[in-house]
Amino acid sequence: QVLERIEVVEPKINALVTVNNKGAIEQARALDKKIRDGKAAGPLSGVAISVKDNISTKGIRTTCASKMLDSYVPPYDATVVKRLQDAGAIIIGKANLDEFAMGSTTEFSRNGPTRNPWDISRVPGGSSGGSAASVAAMECAISLGSDTGGSVRCPASFCSVVGLKPTYGLVSRYGLISYANSLEQVGPAGRTVADVAAALNAIVGQDENDHTTAPGKPSYLVSKMPLRVGLVKEFIEGADPEVSRIIYRAYDTLEKEGCRCAEVSMPSAQYALASYYTIAMAEASSNLARYDNVRYGFDMSPDGYEWNSYFAKGRSNFGEEVKRRIITGSYVLSSGYYGKYYLKAQQVRSLLRRELKSLFRQFDVLIGPTMPILPFPIGEKVDDPLKMYLVDVDTVVANLAGIPAISVPAGFSGDNLPVGLQIMADEFSEQVMLDAAYTFE
Ligand code: GLN
Repeated sequence: QVLERIEVVEPKINALVTVNNKGAIEQARALDKKIRDGKAAGPLSGVAISVKDNISTKGIRTTCASKMLDSYVPPYDATVVKRLQDAGAIIIGKANLDEFAMGSTTEFSRNGPTRNPWDISRVPGGSSGGSAASVAAMECAISLGSDTGGSVRCPASFCSVVGLKPTYGLVSRYGLISYANSLEQVGPAGRTVADVAAALNAIVGQDENDHTTAPGKPSYLVSKMPLRVGLVKEFIEGADPEVSRIIYRAYDTLEKEGCRCAEVSMPSAQYALASYYTIAMAEASSNLARYDNVRYGFDMSPDGYEWNSYFAKGRSNFGEEVKRRIITGSYVLSSGYYGKYYLKAQQVRSLLRRELKSLFRQFDVLIGPTMPILPFPIGEKVDDPLKMYLVDVDTVVANLAGIPAISVPAGFSGDNLPVGLQIMADEFSEQVMLDAAYTFE
């Protein structure tokens, strides 16, 4: 049924880069047999999932929506993929994304843009747009995305699904193709908070292959709790009026449920976006250096090339946005500018962390809009990098600070476009964050 559904909706939304037709049926049969043989079935038995195409899947092409990795078939599974499969989940396909997860709309993809299932003339958000759209369009129940600066939450908000970015170090990054290591985490998207919590339970916990993972394997429940809630003024101030109206309504709902709500200020939030893009591009320029046509890339005969022209020719296959980031990232790391840009960005990061620590002494969760604007038409910002970067203004804070954040559907605008509420909590306080999110279930 899932594969039939995919056949019907894919031509309209283009959420999947690869459909795992044969593999999914094989996995399902193996699972059936396991159950017939009386073996324990995992908590996600038979649940259809899609996996963002920058997360390695053994034997299934993993392209990062880039020409660079067009024919790359990983020889191993990412830890998160292995854990989901151990829990019984079935991979139905690989989800579309912005090339190497760099973007906020899923337009920077070699496979063409993914479309928003609620209005196919609009963007689904990004960079995990294929993930959120595949869940919203009922092609699967759950999807794994990656969130470096909002890439799970942004499309979750635009597609009216739930999307979660875990605390840095809660979920293994082994097998996630790196964009900006110090910022990113793999996170689930689903139609309900309970689904997302179930997926999180399957993927969390220490991994010997990723030494940045924290010890232990927590388990989360979903329940409603009266909490102390802070609405971040800076997040609301720049938002579209329709977005703020719906966020204030969510604030009232929390109050009615017994939460103690107040408006708070987070002054350093204004520097977050500049700090994020400086650090993300610096790390990207370093990570992408490996695509040198020797270790990864194409079969390209070196005949007739100097080594540097060979290198340049291969790297000309990156898309525009990726090139822009490699150039900017190399610039902010270069000796004359390192102190001026990169170091400053790191200082802002410390400042933000300190400010958040003190806020989380007064509040269990901080809330605001996930996205400052409504889903916009495809093509509107694709030629204007600064406008594109600006849409991430509310999501990057959590990545810089390493704290968890979730986007839950908060309602629809007058024009019937989805608005997401972002809820952030202190590091490793996923439980409290899920409690707040469950209010909107
Ligand atoms: N839009 C942000 C960027 O382009 C976030 C991307 C992401 O989280 N992978 O960097």
